[in-house]
Amino acid sequence: MDFSKLVELYEELENTSSGNKLREILAEFFKQVPKEDLAVITYLTLGKISAEYESAVLGLADKTVLKAISVAGGVESSKVKKLMQEQGDAGLVAEIILKKKPTTLVPLGKLTVTELFQKLHQIVETSGTGSQEKKTNILVTLLQKSPAKGAKYIARIALGTLRMGVAEMTVLDALAIAYTKEKKNKEYLEKAYNICPDVGIIAETIAKKGLKGLAKIEISVGRPIKMMLAQRVSQLEDVHKKIPGKFAVEGKYDGERVQAHKDNNGKITLFSRRLENNTNQFPDLVKYLEKQISAKTFIIEAEILAIDEKGEPQPFQVLMQRRRKNDIQEYIKKIPVQAKVFDILYLDGKTVFQEPFENRITLLKKIVKQSKHLTLTEQIITDNLETVESFFQKMLKEGYEGIMMKSLQGEYQAGTRGWNWIKWKKDYLQDLNDTLDLVVVGAFYGKGRRSGTYGALLCAAYDQKNDQFLTVCKLGTGLTDELLAELPQKMKKYLLKKRAARLVVKKEMEADVWFTPHLVVEVLGAELTKSPFHTLGLALRFPRFLRFREKNAEQATTKKELEEMFER
Ligand code: AMP
Repeated sequence: MDFSKLVELYEELENTSSGNKLREILAEFFKQVPKEDLAVITYLTLGKISAEYESAVLGLADKTVLKAISVAGGVESSKVKKLMQEQGDAGLVAEIILKKKPTTLVPLGKLTVTELFQKLHQIVETSGTGSQEKKTNILVTLLQKSPAKGAKYIARIALGTLRMGVAEMTVLDALAIAYTKEKKNKEYLEKAYNICPDVGIIAETIAKKGLKGLAKIEISVGRPIKMMLAQRVSQLEDVHKKIPGKFAVEGKYDGERVQAHKDNNGKITLFSRRLENNTNQFPDLVKYLEKQISAKTFIIEAEILAIDEKGEPQPFQVLMQRRRKNDIQEYIKKIPVQAKVFDILYLDGKTVFQEPFENRITLLKKIVKQSKHLTLTEQIITDNLETVESFFQKMLKEGYEGIMMKSLQGEYQAGTRGWNWIKWKKDYLQDLNDTLDLVVVGAFYGKGRRSGTYGALLCAAYDQKNDQFLTVCKLGTGLTDELLAELPQKMKKYLLKKRAARLVVKKEMEADVWFTPHLVVEVLGAELTKSPFHTLGLALRFPRFLRFREKNAEQATTKKELEEMFER
């Protein structure tokens, strides 16, 4: 397919500010796309060149992209720089400059979507001496071959800032409409996506093999599975209503979740909760897994904690120092880790995540050889709430944040906040019994001491049913001066020209700047009240910032959860 067709789509999407309309436009487009181009188109439309979890990420520096624009347009770099200062967006600069691009001696031909995709991959894969120049050259060719309007999007994709307002869930909705004629069939696409979080594969499968083909998609070692999340109850007694009979109770430590995969060649890959490949960060853990798990292939899940020399757990902030690109060996010694293994999803060529949890525990006990650095999570099995309560108190004393109660018969519900897992944390709120994880969707400029940065952040919850973000509070308290000073820089990547299409706001909450729903913050609040100013219909009173969370926007607290909390 010609890239110019995709450019027409992007122009239409860019002029749309309603989430529903985005879906319709995308669905119409998907219907007409040659099936073999579909995967590539879904990646590009999300501003990517591979599945979310793969490390092929574009994010060239402004400088590189501006250089390519100046070469492709045959314009002096000082002129390009000046335009950039005026426009503030390399995409617009590319469009303006390339409108008057010089004709080349040899006609370049039309740019196809496949060629664009391959060349963008080449850019990512080029490394070593002279790579900067090679990358720029590839980009120059792309800009020259593209129509001027397309240059705008190429520049943005290269920078990693396409932001069409389309997210993975929007694509799944549109695919359901285009290939099954029923939006409600998205449920099946989402189910497949939870065990294969690669929109390209989902798109190609539904287009070529329909819903039947989709149901056959299986777990594949080396490709992460979307992680299961836990539900919450407002009083411990409610656990019995959700999980009849005996259940497993485990310590819930506040560390970093990891999904570890070992493939047929013995290669181990680690994925974070956001499904990012973070193997390079934990070479020590890779060794422990190699030595202490006796299985040819596996997918297991664990919580990583920092420990001291005696093996005592350290606070979350200590572990955070392991999140680094440099001095890894030094930090392995300085901050040793322990992985507390709590689940197994795949073992020796067989998918086991749908087996009852009690069978999975048995498998884990068989294959994990425990040490200070790799252990099984503390666990008891009971149906007695007094026993649960005393286990909970014991865990708190040992530095845990709470417990997890898990159904022994339950399967691992990939990508779902399911009732097979119920969390119970220490009450650190007066009225609400848990903190909220909210998405930062906008910001208001600060005044006085906060001038020059943001004074407050507009936060939203996720409406799963409609794939939308609904605002619930303005957050200013708890943000230290240091943090505030860093915020504009931290948020730069997510800045938008206008409100995100999936965000719904009342006019009273029109923010000064808008962000792509991405960053999640943990917020403590006093109570929920009805509110005409927030689109959720509820407002969180006296919100206080606690910390940034490693979650995707769609993993934030949901509208449904907040409504249930309010009811309680
Ligand atoms: P929350 O982030 O509050 O929804 O709690 C779920 C998180 O608790 C998981 O993503 C894990 O990172 C963490 N966790 C700690 N211990 C366990 C455990 N025993 N089982 C499952 N998750 C655990």
